Amino acid sequence: AVQYHKYSPKEAAIWKEGEAVPYLFIARVFSKIEAQSKRLLITEMMANAFRTIIAVSPEDLLPAVCLAANKLAPDFMGVELGIGDSIMIKAVAETCGRSVESIKASVEEEGDLGTVCNASRAKQMTFCKPKPLTARGMVKTLTEIAQLSGGSSQLKKKDKVKAMLVAAREMEAQYIVRSLQGKMRIGLAESTVLVALAHAAVLSEADKAGKKLRGDALQEELAEGERIIKQVYCEMPNYEVIVPALLEHGLHHLHEHASLTAGIPVKPMLAKPTKGISEVLDRFSSGRFTCEYKYDGERAQIHMLEGGKIKIFSRNSEDNTSKYPDIAAMLPKAIAPGVTSFILDAEAVAVNSTTGAIQPFQVLSTRKRKDADVDSIVVRVCVFSFDLLFLNGESLLQRPLAERRELLHKSFLELPNEFQFAKASDAADVEAIQEFLNESIVGNCEGLMVKTLDVDATYEPSKRSLNWLKVKKDYLQGMTDSCDLVPIGAYFGKGKRTGVYGAYLLACYNDEEEEYQSVCKIGTGFSDTALAELHASLSARVTSHAPSYYRTSDSLAPDVWFEPCQVWEVMAADLSISPVHLAAIGLVDAAKGIALRFPRFLRVRDDKSVEDATSSAQIAEMYNNQATTKAVPADDEDD
Ligand code: ATP
Repeated sequence: AVQYHKYSPKEAAIWKEGEAVPYLFIARVFSKIEAQSKRLLITEMMANAFRTIIAVSPEDLLPAVCLAANKLAPDFMGVELGIGDSIMIKAVAETCGRSVESIKASVEEEGDLGTVCNASRAKQMTFCKPKPLTARGMVKTLTEIAQLSGGSSQLKKKDKVKAMLVAAREMEAQYIVRSLQGKMRIGLAESTVLVALAHAAVLSEADKAGKKLRGDALQEELAEGERIIKQVYCEMPNYEVIVPALLEHGLHHLHEHASLTAGIPVKPMLAKPTKGISEVLDRFSSGRFTCEYKYDGERAQIHMLEGGKIKIFSRNSEDNTSKYPDIAAMLPKAIAPGVTSFILDAEAVAVNSTTGAIQPFQVLSTRKRKDADVDSIVVRVCVFSFDLLFLNGESLLQRPLAERRELLHKSFLELPNEFQFAKASDAADVEAIQEFLNESIVGNCEGLMVKTLDVDATYEPSKRSLNWLKVKKDYLQGMTDSCDLVPIGAYFGKGKRTGVYGAYLLACYNDEEEEYQSVCKIGTGFSDTALAELHASLSARVTSHAPSYYRTSDSLAPDVWFEPCQVWEVMAADLSISPVHLAAIGLVDAAKGIALRFPRFLRVRDDKSVEDATSSAQIAEMYNNQATTKAVPADDEDD
């Protein structure tokens, strides 16, 4: 049973009330978490640590949360530590008095620089110990490292890393190294950090009020706390706002102080795949719904701040403003009088500027990714807007889609081939929807998005919601949806493919276990140019060993392994239980995984990070939803 208690005096004894929280306190918690695999217990350990900090040194809650989430700043700020592996290895070598070569050899053996650093430091004698590291000091130094730029910045970064490593005690060095490498690998996903923060807040508030929460009442409060924190984080993904507001105003008033704001990206709502129109009609048997074209471009969340400044964010909350100066220049003409701020949800789609014909995604992908110059843009885009989330300072998330759409249409004016509303039909019978689907495909779209209008029709940030269903043209050909997979290894090409990789090993992502599980080998769908480009980009990301967080069978061993760095969209005929692949192992079959059959490469998804790859749970869901699951032979028909 999960016990929510404060840390025992022994564990908290390494620091006194009012003193800055030592980093060692956090590192010890990480070490316990790393040794634990049960999610409930991991959550409890993190929640207890946060709760102790709230009781003894609340100003350290923010640095502790940043360290646990391993995030210095929200994603949209694009803050990067900018430390390459070679600098890290040098810093470790110099701190431990070992050669770079011997550190590299140990990393080959151990698979993790953090562990190597820790083991090497244990042997080292330090006579004059610097002051112990604190949680807030760590965050400060990491921020300074991120801010260093220019000529000698790599040297300065290395010196800062060394200073931290020299001051490290016990297992601290291991987590310092992993923080700097961007991956903690202790099995603590950011979603767990959020849940732990919610639990810590609920319990601390009860402590303060002298309330003893137990049984069902405790569970209800914890669940409500989780709901609040997750909602707030979707709307305002910034710990620097959330944590102080939580401490000052409490959980139940948090949303009033940390919510949707123009200028800060909200995690977009996503759709569930369906097998076709009849499934849509079954699911939406009561209540009105609308069908919209599913445009094949790039999601663009467009913000206008009070004063007229425009910001454009990607599906991943990255700042795409400098990629689309043409949208920012065009938009003022499309805004109705009286509109002072907004957040639009839209798709930027390449179009032929004279005819307005929609171009395939591949055309859009040739545009410059950053710092584009309006005058030299060749590929024109049209913004197809489908939702309005915020208007004149007010959040619309809780309003039903019918109302949001009405406000969208009132607040903007269509400009042909530049700014249009997503084409929609509210028809509800099979024939009319089928006709609309065909039309969308003829019009170069991916299919339809079907959305509830009145009931259960709020905007649900970051959710893959059942209130949005997608019907793609590909569904008509077999599998219900394409998958977004991570290339984790490759096999050298032969014959015509000599000199490039001939086939790749792909994996889905298990976000619970934080590991990549192999799901297919793929060698089809690549043009010669794609093969050359992928070889060029991926050969720079080869690692000597399969990282410990790759799960695959020995029989699949590729010629080279890659760090997880790209996401590929892949279509397959169907899914089957596999004797060799380990995707979703334990979810459908206790000992076997699932594989994609006859996979075909479609494109690289630059707008997705590796953690956004199709999850193991989604693979299991797709497998279970397959109409023909029973008929699919349990084999592994890779290319
Ligand atoms: P994929 O693009 O691979 O289908 P995804 O995970 O990026 O997957 P989905 O939930 O499958 O997203 O589909 C939603 C995406 O479709 C949105 O992110 C958006 O970019 C695009 N889109 C195009 N037209 C619409 C529309 N009318 N309504 C909502 N999203 C749309």
